[in-house]
Amino acid sequence: MRQSEMLVPTLREAPAEADAAGHRWLLRSGMIRQLAAGIYSYLPLGRRILLNVERIVREEMDRAGCQEVLLPIMQPAELWEESGRYTQYGPELMRLKDRHAREFALGPTHEEVVTALARDEVNSYRKLPFTLYQIGTKFRDERRPRFGLLRGREFIMKDAYSFASDWEELDRTYQAMNTAYSRILERCGLEYIRVEADAGTIGGQGETHEFMALADVGEDTIVTCKHCGYAANLEKAGYQTSESSANHAGPADTSTDPKTVDKADGNTKGDTLVRIETPGVRTINELSAFVGEDARHMIKTLLYQADGQLIAALVRGDHEVNDIALKQVLGAEELILADETALAVHPKLTVGFLGPIGLDLPIVVDADVAVMEHAITGANEVDVHYSNVRPGIDFTLDKVDRIRFAAEGDGCPTCGEPLVFTKGIEVGHIFKLGTKYSDAMGASFLDRNGRQCAPVMGCYGIGVSRLMAAIAEQYAGEDGIRWPAAVAPYHVHLIPMSWKDEQQRELTLQLEQQLTDAGYSVLVDDRDERPGVKFKDSELIGLPVQIVIGRGAAEGQVEFGSHVLAVQGESKRISMTAQEAVSQVKVQLIVRN
Ligand code: ATP
Ligand code: MG
Repeated sequence: MRQSEMLVPTLREAPAEADAAGHRWLLRSGMIRQLAAGIYSYLPLGRRILLNVERIVREEMDRAGCQEVLLPIMQPAELWEESGRYTQYGPELMRLKDRHAREFALGPTHEEVVTALARDEVNSYRKLPFTLYQIGTKFRDERRPRFGLLRGREFIMKDAYSFASDWEELDRTYQAMNTAYSRILERCGLEYIRVEADAGTIGGQGETHEFMALADVGEDTIVTCKHCGYAANLEKAGYQTSESSANHAGPADTSTDPKTVDKADGNTKGDTLVRIETPGVRTINELSAFVGEDARHMIKTLLYQADGQLIAALVRGDHEVNDIALKQVLGAEELILADETALAVHPKLTVGFLGPIGLDLPIVVDADVAVMEHAITGANEVDVHYSNVRPGIDFTLDKVDRIRFAAEGDGCPTCGEPLVFTKGIEVGHIFKLGTKYSDAMGASFLDRNGRQCAPVMGCYGIGVSRLMAAIAEQYAGEDGIRWPAAVAPYHVHLIPMSWKDEQQRELTLQLEQQLTDAGYSVLVDDRDERPGVKFKDSELIGLPVQIVIGRGAAEGQVEFGSHVLAVQGESKRISMTAQEAVSQVKVQLIVRN
């Protein structure tokens, strides 16, 4: 391909919208452009990368025995009502009406459509098992579209759905998908980890795993144990608390600071509640600084609306409430942090100074709070806290459960060794759905014995455009993205210093021919630009190999540079003959299939 004929609008500066390294480079190298928040165009180079990722995904799906289909994006609302998700999916579901005012949704995922298909077309165990997949556009009106292709509102996903006659059959497909996903991520050159996950809005009755690409911009927290290999999404991670961390060192010693202690109750050790004047101290951090105590000696009181009812949840100051766990403990359908309107009904609640003593609400106490000996909490009075609070004595422990997220340093749920946190981008997610959708939508088949059964389903998603963004993130360097050969838009960049120079042009064309014949894709920078501009753009584009054809062309000499050499610490290009350069390409670009 001739670069002069290609739309590659490189930029000197990244636009202000760019909020992650990979995203900045994708914009600067002219690969993508934003049309609206979370909605992107793929320009020619970007499109080639996306197609390469798609090809890898498709090859692995086919290898795993799946069949490709293409399902409609525009889906009747009735279908979503059948599964109960028309309301449940909430504002993330893009909705529209046709000219007859009939409601439709733009598919964020395709369980409904595919289950309806199976309901109509599959009625015997003889047709099972099978797995359908598609690669296509999904719509989700994300609350916070960000990091470019990482969290879009319109994006490309590969989604697959399996139908089996029983759970054992589903297990086999699940394992095959697991292998396929690992192969996809390896071929894309991603550093990743597979974790236990939570089922979220897709729901389901069986296990589910996520594939996480490691990256600092990742919005997911991965909890791992270096000792036994345990790995889970923070939303799902279990933990063991050690006795020492549950029982803190002792009561708050605030007696040294006269302004903080109400002298009438001055006993700061032992069994009496101590009232502390805390003017304007509303957050755990502020309180911690004010009384000079670690957050782990405090109790945080949070208010939630559980199916419309206001409740309080208590966790240690250094812990966070796991709303999924809290929701389960409460058996609630919907759980949201109490907002201003909810609180307006309870004018006596002194937000910022809340605590369990004298609080007239149902209270769920985290297990680690229940075992605290002395704690500091709000006093339900503006500008006042208590210290020496003894859970179980100063307030009752009616409902105690594990309602917090694991914290770094907690014991691994499997082996007890300390847990470590890292950041990850969820690139893939596999679920054992069971019969959730087949039951809800009335899909059934006759088994061997003529009994009517619901097919046991699985679903498997991988973000194709998110994979591209994750690769960009992991391969972002000082001057651009060093695209791995398997997904790079072209394998080799031929950069003649002067296209007008006949010898340089001849040698460039000769190299292009030889490399193309050998099966490599080649981009030729035939533009009439200064070498500086060409080099800069070449770094931005980040192809795996660059061959510079300059003055040495007369003697058949070129300069060879590559990601492989750069990784080896060889930043400069190496002089060699054109023939040696072709051999080097063959040595260095071994694309794994
Ligand atoms: P997240 O928690 O990041 O929102 P999700 O759990 O909603 O993801 P799934 O419903 O499991 O995602 O979708 C399957 C795959 O589709 C994800 O693993 C991810 O790779 C991709 N994906 C999901 N949402 C987006 C998005 N907004 N933009 C790009 N890719 C996405
Ligand atoms: Mg989501």
